[in-house]
Amino acid sequence: MSDRATDGATGPTAPDLLRVRDLSTRFFTEEGQVNAVESVSFDVRDGEILGIVGESGSGKSVTALSLIDLVESPGEVTSGEVWYRNESLADEFGDAADGEFVDLQQLPPRVRRSLRGPSFSMIFQDPMSSFNPSITVGEQIAEAVEVQRRASANPRSTRSRTQGYGLGKFLLDGIVPNRDYTDPESHERAVELLDQVGIPDPEQRADEYPHQFSGGMLQRAMIAQALAGEPDVLIADEPTTALDVTIQAQILNLLRDLQEERNMSIVMITHDLGVIARMCDRVCVMYAGEVVERGTLADVFDRPTHPYTEGLLGSIPDLDDPAPRLQPIEGNVPSLLDEEMGDRCYFADRCPKAMRECLDHPPEFDADGSDEHRARCVLADHDYDPSEALPEDYFEADQPAETDRPGTTDADRRTEEVQNDD
Ligand code: SF4
Repeated sequence: MSDRATDGATGPTAPDLLRVRDLSTRFFTEEGQVNAVESVSFDVRDGEILGIVGESGSGKSVTALSLIDLVESPGEVTSGEVWYRNESLADEFGDAADGEFVDLQQLPPRVRRSLRGPSFSMIFQDPMSSFNPSITVGEQIAEAVEVQRRASANPRSTRSRTQGYGLGKFLLDGIVPNRDYTDPESHERAVELLDQVGIPDPEQRADEYPHQFSGGMLQRAMIAQALAGEPDVLIADEPTTALDVTIQAQILNLLRDLQEERNMSIVMITHDLGVIARMCDRVCVMYAGEVVERGTLADVFDRPTHPYTEGLLGSIPDLDDPAPRLQPIEGNVPSLLDEEMGDRCYFADRCPKAMRECLDHPPEFDADGSDEHRARCVLADHDYDPSEALPEDYFEADQPAETDRPGTTDADRRTEEVQNDD
């Protein structure tokens, strides 16, 4: 269980930094509309680590990409609000402001882009594919520093930030070979950042290429790059999945130390409840594109309400009591194709407590993310009565033949592709 502080000016009881309300993201594929994220609401507070946990395909990564405008076609954020506490933006864009918060969804795209780095930054699960193999690690971090340096000099000019990149960089490199885009100061800062994330001999390592780094070292380098803009919110998308267990622990410790030193907020996306227990102050559990349970770490781990959360907790080994068999959650995440989603609780056919009332319509969840412990389940407001449970074979009777099950048609395959990208 987390040993993180639970009071004071930062952490889980601190003021909100981000308020996400009813955020929905769709993918418009040839096979139909995929509802990857559906009316998601939560808050991120100053200096806290918020965990978002769920199976592959639950929508957690697409939620993170939606926050910082990185969803690519055919995906699109179709509705919702992302309120970010930033007085200067609120002053500048009064129409999109509410007090000191501004709704990022109402800001011009160039302004949203300009917030990547100084406000929001992201680290990805596979550092090897995130670095350019033909450029030294130090140069790539220095470029991130340089972009932030130019942005600070002229915060509203996208040109000042992108000059020297893309086609412009290609053409200039042709005209002036060996031209330095980055300032020596940015190189020095890159070395400092490598040092801060625990890379030994940072000056020497800065001149090495990504293939000369181990997986753990490269993940540290990616964290250094993400810190270049000193972001308010760091989004860590499965940051340790590609690493072995001992390196995982080092990276998690590093993230926590950096978060405490810098008073950053972190959104930690993972399928690993162990990571959540070790790192997070509060937790959102996602299933089929929705947040199905939300609360403090103690709420969710000690008093889970949603049967899916119970299932996730039941499927992790207990080293103190290894005798009981692990309880897997039977079945698969459902298709998120709009036309196949149905009008009932999306977890019903995997839920050991499913009742008749669960089939009437999807359970309600409040749109206000600032609450304590909530669950998208009829059991959130009354106790489970086993006598009301549906027969065990209820859904089997309705199941299509094996060859027609999700994953066997083109539409299902496309849905799986989108979900697996998550
Ligand atoms: S609403 Fe019903 S089917 Fe859905 S998770 Fe709750 S108990 Fe299970």
